[in-house]
Amino acid sequence: MAGSLQGKISLVTGAGSGLGRACAINMAREGATVVVSDIDAEGAGQTLSAIKQQGGDGMAVLADTSRSEDVAALIGKIVATYGRLDCACNNAGVGRLGAERVHEYPEDDWDCIMAVNARGVWLCLRHEITQMLEQGGGAIVNMASAAGLVGVARASAYVTSKHAVVGLSKAAALEYAGDGIRVNAICPGVVDTPGVRGQIKWLPASVTGFLLRRMASRLMPIGRLGAPREVAESVTWLCSDAASQVSGLALAADGGHTAR
Ligand code: NAD
Repeated sequence: MAGSLQGKISLVTGAGSGLGRACAINMAREGATVVVSDIDAEGAGQTLSAIKQQGGDGMAVLADTSRSEDVAALIGKIVATYGRLDCACNNAGVGRLGAERVHEYPEDDWDCIMAVNARGVWLCLRHEITQMLEQGGGAIVNMASAAGLVGVARASAYVTSKHAVVGLSKAAALEYAGDGIRVNAICPGVVDTPGVRGQIKWLPASVTGFLLRRMASRLMPIGRLGAPREVAESVTWLCSDAASQVSGLALAADGGHTAR
């Protein structure tokens, strides 16, 4: 039976780890040819190997999504290789656990988070949409967060960047609705990824385990952290023709976090 993305050319940024890797593997499982992009060559290579091991196809392309020239070259390479771009998941993003309130937040960290999480998604949209207008349609999912729907104390830059992703997705959905291009945002809760674990890796293992359990019980009404594949299923659906009526949605895949 054909998969839900059979024959489509799909791009996932930040696909060398965590949620991006799960999205890339899941899209390939559903029949897409997947362009695995990251700043981490080793991680991207591992994701591509996993795709090929399950019988899928694609290529790895290094690109820093906060750099306009990298994103232009990435989309250029996809079009030169495959002739089109049907779906994209703009997933690359950075987070930072800190204790600072707004007035204490370090300027450099603020600029870095906004450059990747907000400006990077905009840069990807610009180049992806230019190609999708040319070919007459496409579907894009931007990786936001539950922190793009509600506030989180002591994470002001991240919260601001993810609210920007939700707003940008809605604006783009309206601007291109008549061009056959759907744009949605996905808003995960806390998902067990190397990115999340990396933020607490300096702690002893016993404390790490305690913190992860505490995050699950306090932040996730379903009582456990999300698994990357669970979010990837929603991203794949949003990219597929099964979601042909869905655009401008900020889909919470957050174990009920934002229902409270
Ligand atoms: P992760 O650190 O495991 O993976 C992120 C990947 O993005 C890495 O491979 C990294 O090399 C890549 N990357 C970072 N900056 C990049 C750049 N400028 N250009 C290209 N690639 C870059 O993180 P994750 O937890 O899988 O998070 C992925 C996305 O999901 C992020 O946007 C994050 O904000 C979002 N998110 C994560 C969670 C969670 O709980 N894990 C929840 C909500 C949203």
